[in-house]
Amino acid sequence: MKTIEDLLAGDVHGKTVLVRSDLNVPLDDERNITDDGRVRASVPTIKALSDAGAKVVVVAHLGRPKGAPEEKYSLTPVVSRLSELLGKDVAFAKDTVGESAKSVVAGLQDGDVALLENLRFNPGETSKDEKERGDFADQLAAFADAFVSDGFGVVHRKQASVYDVATRLPHYAGGLVGTEVEVLQRLTQNPERPYAVVLGGAKVADKLAVIENLMQTADRLLIGGGMAYTFLKAQGHEVGKSLLDEEKVDTCKKFLEDAKAKGVEIVLPIDTVVAPEFSADVDTLVVDSDEIPADMMGLDIGPKSRELFATKLRDCRTVFWNGPMGAFEMAPYAYGTEAVAQVLADITKEGALTVVGGGDSAAAVRQLGFADDQFGHISTGGGASLEYLEGKTLPGIEILDA
Ligand code: ADP
Ligand code: MG
Repeated sequence: MKTIEDLLAGDVHGKTVLVRSDLNVPLDDERNITDDGRVRASVPTIKALSDAGAKVVVVAHLGRPKGAPEEKYSLTPVVSRLSELLGKDVAFAKDTVGESAKSVVAGLQDGDVALLENLRFNPGETSKDEKERGDFADQLAAFADAFVSDGFGVVHRKQASVYDVATRLPHYAGGLVGTEVEVLQRLTQNPERPYAVVLGGAKVADKLAVIENLMQTADRLLIGGGMAYTFLKAQGHEVGKSLLDEEKVDTCKKFLEDAKAKGVEIVLPIDTVVAPEFSADVDTLVVDSDEIPADMMGLDIGPKSRELFATKLRDCRTVFWNGPMGAFEMAPYAYGTEAVAQVLADITKEGALTVVGGGDSAAAVRQLGFADDQFGHISTGGGASLEYLEGKTLPGIEILDA
């Protein structure tokens, strides 16, 4: 795989380089960026190219528009943040491959940076039709002499700006993609032991897929957040109104059996913070995990579980964490997530490799006041890192090898 170092070592001055970044940041109702982690993570690659005198054309998506422009998904809030972080003006094209994009790209001087509008305003970006996707990729490729793939959060997608464009231009892995892949390789090849994986969050079905593979490498699997209740149910406990994936109860049963056979330790919450509804303004209660009342829902792991999880993580030399331990957006349910973040920060200081993956997980640790450098690595791609750990081939990485 060629990397941006190879590109920089050649003659990139005056060349136009198309950079696929991941700028898919969370926005509040006024369209202010609530976590700019992904913009910050994209800066080093863009800056290196600009400093080397390349004309840099950055492409990215935001949210899930349906192949047509929609004001609320415009990348406008991102342009200003990117300009601030780069310390230079970023030109903005109001479309992806139309008149505005053409004139913005044509006007670039050496070292200038431009951002094109949300790629998903064009149906070609995510189309399942090879030709439609290819046509869009042709138009993007026509802007540039080389392609740098740096949007790690999208490398598991076979999309025009991730996959097809790489078949049309000399292609290189950006610094962020390089770092992410290196870290994930350390998790899959010979991790220092004990190696624990902490899973939480709300996407139960998605994340169950990764467990099978993780059981081959991890020594311990800690399961909290909305994930835990399907497992508790599989153990025969009632979970009241908690998040539950009824269809996956049998799968969880099988995981529990397989884990036992393989000698992998599965750690589930022993107590739970419950509330009558998904709200911060209600009375909460702590109950043992086998005593969740029928009219209540579990919204965080309880204090005994926080202790237990901390004990199971403290001696680890490698930890991968995806998914918050509770509904952390509401203060009463953020303690479990905070406890896990704290142990990880502690063991990072002692030299353990800790990796936090997942959009909400990354936002959670920042919201709780942790700094990025208190962890070994905060991955910008939740889905991509999970699929990598599942052992799947990521189209956006595979194509860079070609
Ligand atoms: P990530 O983005 O880190 O991969 P997910 O998207 O899977 O994580 O899940 C994050 C969401 O899970 C958060 O919005 C959080 O409120 C929610 N969550 C965590 N625990 C619970 C729970 N017990 N019940 C309901 N939702 C939960
Ligand atoms: Mg999420």
